This record gives sequence, C-alpha cells and structure tokens, in this order.
Amino acid sequence: MRSSLSSHHQGLLPVLEISFRLRPSTRGMRWVHQVNKADYDEAGRLLRIRSYLFDLTRQKQLESSIEATKERLYLALESARIGTWDANNETQELIINARAASMLGYREDEVEHDNHSWMDMVHPHDRVNTDRALQSYRNPGMDVIALEYRIRHKKGHYVWVQSYGRTVERDDSGRPRRIVGTLLDITESKRQESLRNRQRQLLDLLNQAQTSFLLNRNVEDACEALFEPLLRISESTFGFIGIVQYNDKGQPYLMVPTISDLDWRHGKVRNGQYERRAESLQFHRLDNLFGHVVTHNQIVLTNEPGTHHASQGTPEGHPTLRNFLGMPIRFDNKVLGMIALGNRPDGFDEQMVQLLEPLVVTLGTLFHARDQENARVTAEQELLRLATRDALTGLANRRHFFEVAETSLIQTRRYGTPMTVALLDLDHFKHINDTHGHAAGDAVLNAFADVLRESLRDTDTPARVGGEEFAVLLTNTPLSEALIALERIRHTLDETPIQVGDRTIYATVSIGAVQWNANHLDVDGMLAHADAALYAAKRHGRNRVQLYHAELMQMEASAPTPLRAANDAA
Ligand code: GH3
Ligand code: MG
Ligand code: MG
Repeated sequence: MRSSLSSHHQGLLPVLEISFRLRPSTRGMRWVHQVNKADYDEAGRLLRIRSYLFDLTRQKQLESSIEATKERLYLALESARIGTWDANNETQELIINARAASMLGYREDEVEHDNHSWMDMVHPHDRVNTDRALQSYRNPGMDVIALEYRIRHKKGHYVWVQSYGRTVERDDSGRPRRIVGTLLDITESKRQESLRNRQRQLLDLLNQAQTSFLLNRNVEDACEALFEPLLRISESTFGFIGIVQYNDKGQPYLMVPTISDLDWRHGKVRNGQYERRAESLQFHRLDNLFGHVVTHNQIVLTNEPGTHHASQGTPEGHPTLRNFLGMPIRFDNKVLGMIALGNRPDGFDEQMVQLLEPLVVTLGTLFHARDQENARVTAEQELLRLATRDALTGLANRRHFFEVAETSLIQTRRYGTPMTVALLDLDHFKHINDTHGHAAGDAVLNAFADVLRESLRDTDTPARVGGEEFAVLLTNTPLSEALIALERIRHTLDETPIQVGDRTIYATVSIGAVQWNANHLDVDGMLAHADAALYAAKRHGRNRVQLYHAELMQMEASAPTPLRAANDAA
C-alpha cells in the first residue's frame, strides 16, 4: 500500500489497482479493491489522487469457499472410493479418473478414454438399460440420472457399478454435449443384497419342506419339493439330495429320491455305480467325490474337481463337472444323507456353504424324524404281529382267529353270504414226536402251515388254535367249494415229503368242516359242529375230510362213548 502510494508521488504510476484488507474494527475485516487515478500538472507534480474502492469481501468469501468445497469434494470422492467420468458426446471422448479405472483393474493410462470402448465392457444383459439411460440425458427435465450395471473387470469377471450423471453442457438444439458423473463400485453390496434375498428364499423353502413333511410324513416328497428351488438358490446346474441307507452287510449306500434331470439318469446301469430301482436312484459306490462327503462326514468344496484326491471322474454321459459342493446332512454328527451341487457359473465358496447350512440342518432333523417315525411304526407292527400271530408257524393265533371269525359272522348274518369253518388235526402226531423228536414235530407243524398258506385264498384265514390243531375260516365260501380247498390241503400234505435233517417224514391230517346256518348262534356253536365232524373223520380212519350234516350229529350222539374214548387214545 505504501510503496504503491509512493510510486504515485514519484510520478511513476498514473493508474494503480490494488486489493487489500481493511480492519475497520477490531472484530471485522473486509477485502477491498482500490483503483487509484493520479493527476499531475505540466511540471509533473502530483496534484491529486482519485480513488475508487470496491468491497470485495463477499467475492473473496465465495472464492475461498469454492476452493474449500473443491478440496472437500476431492476428499469425499477419494474416501468414498468414488470414481468420476466426463463424457463428450461430440468427440465421443470419455475421461475416466484413476479411481474409476482401478475399479476395473486398470491404471488410468491403460483404459481407452472413449465411449465405445466403455460400452463394449458393459455386461450384455445390462446394455439395454445403459442405452436407455443415455437416451434419458436428452430429456431436459432429467436432472441427475442414476443407473446400476455390470462392467467387465480386467481379469474377466464383472463388477457392479452405480453411476450418477448430470448433463453440464447442451448444444443449440438442447442435446447433451457434455455429461459428467460419478462411479461407485457396489459389487459387495450387491452380493450382500443377493445373499439376503437367497437367505429369505431359503427360509421360505425350509418352512415349506417342514410343512410338507409334517403333513404327509414323507421325506422323499419333502426332498422333491426342496430340490428345484435349491438348484435355483445355489445357482447350480445340477445336483441331488441323497439319503444314507445300509445294505445287508451294513455298508452305507445312497438312496437318491431327487436328482437333476440329466441324460444318464434314465440310462442303464454303468459300472455298477448307479442303479435305478423303482422311483429312487441308488448309488452304491462311495469311493468317489460325492461319496467322500458321506464316508468322511466332510464338506467337499472344489472348483477344480478333477484335481480332488477323491475324484473318479464323472460317469459316461454326465456333463463335465467344473465345480462341486457336497455337504453332509447330519443329526448328532451322524451322517444321514448329503446334498450335492455342481457347475455353478461363478464356482462355489464359503459363503455358499454358510447360506446352505440351515438347509442341511433342517434336512438332518427331517431325516432323523423320519427314522424315529419308521422305528415307531416297525415297533407297532411287531407288537401287533406278536399279539395276533402264532410264534412257531406265523399263522394267526387262536385269539386272532376268533376275532376274525366274529367279524365275518356279523357280515354273514346280515347279508346271508356263505361262510365255512374247518378244524384240522394232524394224525398220530404224538407218534411223530415220539419217533423223530419234538424238533421234527415242530418242523412238521411248519410244513403244514406252509401247505395251508399255499392252498388258500387271501380272504381265507388259517390259524393254529392248539398244539397240532389248526382252524381255517373261509369267507364267502359254501361247503361244497370249501370241500375242494380242504381236500387239496389234505392231499398236498399227504403227498409232501417233509425233510428234517436226513430224515423224510410223511404226515396226514383229518379235517372236519361246517357251513354257517341259522341254528349257529356264534363261532363256538360252529366250531362244536366242526369238531364233531373232525371226530367222525378220525373215527372213519383219519387222513380224510368230513363235512358236517344233521345225520352225522345224530350218529355221533348215538355212538357209544367208549368208541370215542378209544379213538382219542389211538
Ligand atoms: P390223533 O391222530 O388222534 O390226533 O393222534 P395224535 O397223536 O395227533 O393226538 P394227541 O392229541 O394224543 O397228541 C397230540 C400231540 O401233539 C401231543 C403233544 O405232545 C404234541 N404237541 C402239541 N403241541 C406241540 C408242539 O407245539 N410241538 C410238537 N412237536 N408237538 C406238539
Ligand atoms: Mg389233537
Ligand atoms: Mg392229532
């Protein structure tokens, strides 16, 4: 200030412009711009100085705030890892800053700074969207255009980016000339979002599977319902769900209720590795990649399946396995099954394992519940069998025979359908026991039970009602038809050599039969008549079928008691 004023005095400087700060008070400070004009006389002496002062304070504040904003903006862009771009529609130039280039794995000077090269890198599925966005810039009402798309990284994979652009220059006809914008790498948040999505879908799925299992108690159906969505959620091309079963030798194999529909699925058995039986496929060989999951109770995750030590290659006709994820389905750390997934475009990773964890846990619980259920049903069936079956021959026991007979009698009384009951007593059985031993006697009883089973219809009920006494209930059968069946039984036993060790035993049977009639009050009444007929058969020489009729009863009644006694003794 001083030096410039002295320049005026010396006559060196007629006009001077200068900016400086004024402190009109101790608190305030103002920027001023001063324009000085010096007037001199002819001798060159300074006459006066005219000064104009402009208050610059506001302008100075703006300038410094712009500077600060710029700095802050750069800082923000840097710390938020935001890239910038600047597109010129006339020159097709696209300036990308270092940050934006590095998102795609390039150095700033490695990328082609033009629109076309950029668009070439955009994921084919996202091109329609990016094109549409470019059109939108023409719309003068559109202030900021936001867009998310995938773009190819230098290494070949795609990264998700979010772009905000704004038209900053338009040509005379209003078309955008320059558009500038920011670019943000959102790959990770996209991944998280899709993970959350898949988790939600998976939980829905688990609910569905549990409900389906609770409703029809069928693990196979639950697996079927789970399977397609499982492939979709895991983005796998193929896979299967397997249930561990054990063969007669106690070796594990996999029962596979659900498997992706591949050509080889319907093909014939190959190398004994795959076997299709009824509806479920069975994998008996477990010395391979997926078997490893079951035999080692281990997750197998590989994106190079060929190099895995358990790999045996894929079966003929199976598409090449590019990656594989096998997870054991456990309950109490015991392997009950497995899920297998293959050929996910991006390969498998730990995140996928975590995603599927609740699924395998649920399946483990379902499989376990199924095993419990099966055990319960088996136990119930066994109890029922014990209660209704004869332990030696497996035929109905006495109690069960009476139950069935009572039930049939109700039908017969109501509808008048014919019903025949027979009593069968092995001849001279005491003699067989005495000659060949009790065990041989038992073998004969079993042989006779087989004859009964083979000679009768499913609707007939053969039973063992005493030591060597049997009964047969023939529903819907008149006496004349029953005679044919009973005669066949008698004849078959007579003709059948029974092999016990190195001995051959022949046995015969006597049979008494009666058809229900209105005089029979109950099952006991019928059996009394059948018994009378049986005694007659014994009396008339054994190895014969005797049908009950009224005269027979009279004959038996008139027969002297000692004869009967003698018969019993014989
Ligand atoms: P009949 O021709 O008059 O019927 O003569 P039987 O010897 O068959 O008649 P009896 O009723 O005198 O003898 C039946 C024998 O069956 C007596 C008993 O030792 C034998 N027995 C009863 N239950 C069993 C069994 O469960 N196993 C064996 N091995 N023998 C049995
Ligand atoms: Mg007897
Ligand atoms: Mg007998």
